[in-house]
Amino acid sequence: MSRQTDVVVIGGGQAGLAAGYHLRRRNLDFTILDAQDAPGGAWRHMWDSLRLFSPAAFSSLPGRPMPHQFGREYPDAAHVVDYLTAYEHRYDLPVVRPVRVHGVHRDGARLRVETDAGTWSARAVISATGTWWRPFLPAVPGREVFTGRQVHTTGYRSPEQFAGQRVVVVGGGNSGAQIASDLALHGGIEMMWVTRRPPRLLPDHVDGRALFDVATARRRALEAGLPDSGGVASLGDIVAVEPVRAARDAGLLKAQPMFARLTREGVVWADGTAAGADAVIWCTGFRPALSHLAPLGLRGRRGHLATDGTRAVGEPRLHLLGYGDWTGPASATLIGVGRPARDAAHRIRDLPA
Ligand SMILES: Cc1cc2nc3c(=O)[nH]c(=O)nc-3n(C[C@H](O)[C@H](O)[C@H](O)COP(=O)(O)OP(=O)(O)OC[C@H]3O[C@@H](n4cnc5c(N)ncnc54)[C@H](O)[C@@H]3O)c2cc1C
Repeated sequence: MSRQTDVVVIGGGQAGLAAGYHLRRRNLDFTILDAQDAPGGAWRHMWDSLRLFSPAAFSSLPGRPMPHQFGREYPDAAHVVDYLTAYEHRYDLPVVRPVRVHGVHRDGARLRVETDAGTWSARAVISATGTWWRPFLPAVPGREVFTGRQVHTTGYRSPEQFAGQRVVVVGGGNSGAQIASDLALHGGIEMMWVTRRPPRLLPDHVDGRALFDVATARRRALEAGLPDSGGVASLGDIVAVEPVRAARDAGLLKAQPMFARLTREGVVWADGTAAGADAVIWCTGFRPALSHLAPLGLRGRRGHLATDGTRAVGEPRLHLLGYGDWTGPASATLIGVGRPARDAAHRIRDLPA
């Protein structure tokens, strides 16, 4: 026996909650299925020193501003978890957890959602499962022979895990810069930061708020047929949040070029230079967690599915939310997910009954 509803939202992180907010406003009947046993999505698993790259007021979901975190202009992950928990309760969003979705199938006029807690049948599905659950590790030679510890960003919590060790941090994005800074500032850890190309720190005054403005201006310009400014990517890659600034100003944030391979004891560059290491932290990004959509046989490239806005090309009853800019500008941010969530709810309401 399957449970009937208008819409199933898969994932109860920020994107799933923003979808819920807009579905409720359109009087649609819906259920949010979330694999975790508590609210907060990926934020529950992020490292202790992580700071948002925007102030609280610029990290808000639709309808309810994120409150200021006492003593912190840029809130930590625990504050986001508290905010998402309160948001869920404030709007009385029907989140069922823990429920893991295994597959979404076509079933005549409806979609069938198979889970470890039974089956749901819906007119439409919004997939909002994020990326944290699919860490990406590059194919670097020697990864299997290295005898030290290897963790991905998802396994990092605090410098104490690496006390007294020689640690190589790989990756020139925000996670790499923040974790490298965290380790470098801790003391007692021999940290080396390696990046494929020289890291590009944004100017100190450019935070997530400014990036959002740039992305919005770019979208408007493109919509108006004006030339592409290059948007956010033309400014740099790394937001100089407080720990990154502190490490940079102390001269501790110097990057080395990427090594060629790992050995049993460490890493080696193409010119033969070697360095010993006890651990490697791979801050090398994520891929969208979409395996539950495989039964639909949709096409895509590099782990993304083809979309028109949030709607899947090839399955108009399926929308994708969050993940990255390919599901809407800034869709994978707290402040940016509201707009694509609204569009998805709007288009679902207009689906033929
Ligand atoms: C290190 C880091 C720092 C970031 N900093 C910022 C920042 O400062 N500001 C900002 O706006 N954004 C930031 N982001 C980006 C983004 O806001 C977060 O990644 C956010 O967690 C994305 O929310 P989401 O709801 O799309 O996905 P998630 O938070 O990952 O939520 C998805 C939910 O779906 C569930 N799920 C997954 N698969 C299934 C399944 N098959 N069945 C049922 N449930 C499932 C998961 O358990 C999870 O609860 C950051 C991201 C990272 C990685």
